[in-house]
Amino acid sequence: MSQNTGTIAEQELLNAELISLLAETNGLALLPTLDLFFQSRRLRRKPELQQLVGGFREQIYRYHQGRGEVTRLLQHPISQSLRTFFQTFPLTYREEHTHLTGALQASFLHPLLLARLNGPEGDLCRQKLSSVYGAEAEQLASIQDVERMLTLRESERFERYLQVLYLPKLVLIDRASHQAAAYHMAKTLYEHYNVGFLRLKFTYSRLTTDPREQIPGAEHLTGEDSLLGLYEGFRSFQREHPRFNFALSPCFRKEPSFYDASFASKQAHFQAQVDEILGLLERHPELASYLNEVDTVGDERQLYRKEHFMEMQLGLRKLAARGFSIRSHHGETFYTLKRGIQAVDNAMNIWRIDTLEHGLSLGINPNHYYQLIMEEALAANEAAQAITAHSIVGRELHDMKWDGHDAILAGLMRGEKLGRESVSKFVKVKFHHAREVEHYQHDVLNRVLDKSVSVTALPTSNQKLTTVVPGFKDHPFSWWEKKGVDLGIGTDNYVTLGTDYIKEMLLLLFAEPEDLKITKLLMVATGEKRRPYLSHLLWQMRKNYPSSTA
Ligand SMILES: [Zn+2]
Repeated sequence: MSQNTGTIAEQELLNAELISLLAETNGLALLPTLDLFFQSRRLRRKPELQQLVGGFREQIYRYHQGRGEVTRLLQHPISQSLRTFFQTFPLTYREEHTHLTGALQASFLHPLLLARLNGPEGDLCRQKLSSVYGAEAEQLASIQDVERMLTLRESERFERYLQVLYLPKLVLIDRASHQAAAYHMAKTLYEHYNVGFLRLKFTYSRLTTDPREQIPGAEHLTGEDSLLGLYEGFRSFQREHPRFNFALSPCFRKEPSFYDASFASKQAHFQAQVDEILGLLERHPELASYLNEVDTVGDERQLYRKEHFMEMQLGLRKLAARGFSIRSHHGETFYTLKRGIQAVDNAMNIWRIDTLEHGLSLGINPNHYYQLIMEEALAANEAAQAITAHSIVGRELHDMKWDGHDAILAGLMRGEKLGRESVSKFVKVKFHHAREVEHYQHDVLNRVLDKSVSVTALPTSNQKLTTVVPGFKDHPFSWWEKKGVDLGIGTDNYVTLGTDYIKEMLLLLFAEPEDLKITKLLMVATGEKRRPYLSHLLWQMRKNYPSSTA
């Protein structure tokens, strides 16, 4: 059957019927809602729509059996209706995690980029662009060209993602461009995705010793310029729409090489920046309600041990003493699952973080995860295939405790077929490793709960950038929610990742269609904890979407 409702009038009819049902049922989970919808009096005289609902329900089932495509689900008319529902919900959403560089649309960037390329540093900018984007950088005539460069392709992962963000960095080189960027973001998210609060992450200092990351012109841009520019841009949108609000979250790269070489060490550079931020707050007290947190970002795969956290410890402690809350990107990408948990553990102990961004290493079930690793290793072994040391399987195998059975590990790595006994030893080694990591993970998760550390869920980002979440339906959001973790939702970089806030909400609903109540999702997304008030608002919505039967 066709996925189309046919006409706009039919789509509108579907919207009205579904939204009025959601109001009447007070936001049940998706599947029970679809069941009720399918059987309802509303659709009795509309067999076309009834078929559509049945078809969508079927697609959800297939999706959970691993047979359905999420894009097909998202394009379905029922998804369109759900999107309309979320878009017109009377409260706005809290976008808890978005980076400046990945949230600027091509239509905004294109004219600024052309100005840069035709400006005094044009040649240098062109050179830098070609080194990141290759031949693509030669074609920048249209908005579509820029859009193509900004968007991550299906096959591209984390390293590429950090590079793709180079183009926006190239145009954000003064206060005015930061101001325009903040206004553009606020307006786009508010008008298209019903986002009324934006937590913006931006690199405080782009000065770095790493030549690949250097930006022509950035040497004239101060942290103060970028911060004040962003503040002014958001404030001007807020004056037009008083219910809009924002938080400025300066980010510090955690890689050891990422600092200004004129300082003796990374520690010295970080502390100077901390003092600068505190000084800035004294000079601009108007910033106080918007600038009271920091975040740390970067490639964390090699950063998990205690000593990796020491350089920034003092600076963060000073900020915390001045009332700043500390956020950190951890457990997002990792060398092995155990190290990913260790990184979160140390971020909590040494940096005393208040919010964990991503935290995926706390959401993967170790027993499930290591079983898949073992299956993959044994399949390779049966085919007499060697395992590369740097593949996920290779890394995880090396992380297991082989005490006295190193010959089995060596055999697996070289692709020498194991005998029955060796296979059963391997199963044991895997079993104990999974249990150990599971204990460790639960300890850390319990501390997250104990210390009320909040966790920001970023479904698309986690699925596209890490290789450990096999599909959108495997995101741990609902598991964390059941455990009582204080959750938020973010898009990370909606332009680069080809998503948006409402799409993230839909993905979460599809991931847990039997359990995740729409009301619960609305509570997390809006930050509104008063359930009766939410029910009232749902009921109000019904007036705007009258059913044809009531
Ligand atoms: Zn992020």
